[in-house]
Amino acid sequence: MSVRITDLCISCDACLDECPTSSIVDADDNPTGEDYYYVNPATCTECIGDNPTPACQAACPTEGCIVWDLPFDDENRSHFTGNDRYKLGDDASNNQPHREEISMDDRTAGDVEAVVE
Ligand code: SF4
Ligand code: SF4
Repeated sequence: MSVRITDLCISCDACLDECPTSSIVDADDNPTGEDYYYVNPATCTECIGDNPTPACQAACPTEGCIVWDLPFDDENRSHFTGNDRYKLGDDASNNQPHREEISMDDRTAGDVEAVVE
């Protein structure tokens, strides 16, 4: 990914129309079956080229709801294929850009330290 929406999500819908890559789906369309919004890691670009920071986080009213995740690229592919948090579609072969300034330690820290701010 990129970014991930956690179970703190209150399904308020504020992020959905803000995403420049249409990577967010609501709970009804969450392919993992979880009852909250979901980011497609294969299409999220971390808003590079569209916004100075992730637009989903800027719109989200829920502190700590959106966290950094590993870059969606060949090097980290097993993170996304071997994890029930994700369901990858036909576009999953893409390599997406990621923000170099976010460290890999922060990206692997999960939903505590890696909150998108
Ligand atoms: S970081 Fe940007 S591209 Fe990724 S899900 Fe959020 S709004 Fe969409
Ligand atoms: S803005 Fe935040 S709380 Fe609202 S639907 Fe999106 S991720 Fe969930």
